[in-house]
Amino acid sequence: MRKRVAVLGATGSIGLNTLDVLRGAQDDFEVVLLSGHTSAGPLLACARDFPGAILALSGETAKPGNTGTGTISHHGTAALLAAITSSGADIAVNGISGAAGLAPSLAVLDAGADLALANKETMVMAAPLVRERAAAKKSRIFPVDSEHAAIYNLLRSHCDGSHGDDTLEEILLTASGGPFRTLSLEKMAAVTLAEALAHPTWSMGPKITIDSSTMANKGLEVIEAAGLFSVSADKVKVVVHPQSIVHSMIRLRDGAVYAQLSKPDMRLPIHQALYGDACVPCPFGRLDFDGLTLGFEKPDFRRFPMLALAYRAAEKGGVYPAVYNGANEAAVASFLNNAAAFLDIPRIVEYVLNREWKEGKFTLESVLDADHRARIIAGEYIAKKLEK
Ligand code: NAD
Ligand code: MG
Repeated sequence: MRKRVAVLGATGSIGLNTLDVLRGAQDDFEVVLLSGHTSAGPLLACARDFPGAILALSGETAKPGNTGTGTISHHGTAALLAAITSSGADIAVNGISGAAGLAPSLAVLDAGADLALANKETMVMAAPLVRERAAAKKSRIFPVDSEHAAIYNLLRSHCDGSHGDDTLEEILLTASGGPFRTLSLEKMAAVTLAEALAHPTWSMGPKITIDSSTMANKGLEVIEAAGLFSVSADKVKVVVHPQSIVHSMIRLRDGAVYAQLSKPDMRLPIHQALYGDACVPCPFGRLDFDGLTLGFEKPDFRRFPMLALAYRAAEKGGVYPAVYNGANEAAVASFLNNAAAFLDIPRIVEYVLNREWKEGKFTLESVLDADHRARIIAGEYIAKKLEK
């Protein structure tokens, strides 16, 4: 029986890589749902090789589209959630960018399907709720974020599922360091959008590429790892590794360190997540050691304050990680629109985190409310700055 797959955010970087994997594995997988956000053309192009898939555009303003390559039958967020439920998918790859990925992740789990999770915001914002929903339907979560896919497989191989106890001393989360790894703080003040968008090792969507340049991406990934693997964030250490070959490591209590290595190619972790715990030959990411040199450095929290702010948000817990994420999304959107400078990003996030975020019961509503308010406060800061 072929596994039925939904690809959420099919038109993006993760989505297109997923379709590449699926194109070569049609004996094992049947694509039942493809989603995009606002434009019909790219979604219809995705559908060309996967006839029969339900096509959904989550953007509320999307217009019904029907061409020779397929019919877009679902429009708007509610319709996307309904399509997830009715698609009968066994597994969904969530490659939606940002906080908008949370509700689709929950819909996948509630439908009893497994979740191949690239959308890191899902775990950053609401890890306890996500784990609860997964457990209720016995749905599995397979990380796609390359570091987390590595850690998942390392823990599975070396900790026999017992990483919650003290077998695991620490997770060593690798970071490329981004394009400004060696740049002075003074020079960072003047970096341009084009410079921030030029990632040295990975080709990804614009938001995560900016996050890699501020190291907010690694901050989000620290919180994501803590949520996925049920460890406290202080057990997750960042190691800068400019070549992006070691995708992460774990150190066990006897001191031994285990690592996962492959070329920086998202198609390997996507392949692994799609096949679940089975080890199946994969044409992507195979490493050649000839002439390979690997380096490791300490992260610089002073030049990359987004890292320190992430640990702070993780330590505070509750809605703070969602606030960190929401404020950062707003800040990055302003940087992408040339309304904020590069170094404004951490300033905005710190300003928002410094507000009082009341601790009530942790619910989906409280998380979404905090996300919403974080963006409003970030917007106020940016508007004030623009007035000056
Ligand atoms: P992208 O911008 O290339 O693609 C995003 C996709 O989400 C597109 O299909 C877009 O149409 C859709 N989308 C955008 N806004 C939406 C909304 N409000 N509702 C529903 N759909 C929406 O992004 P990406 O680089 O593929 O990243 C996607 C996610 O995967 C992010 O959470 C990112 O952090 C994570 N991730 C990406 C990579 C990578 O290599 N690109 C690696 C690891 C993790
Ligand atoms: Mg990653």
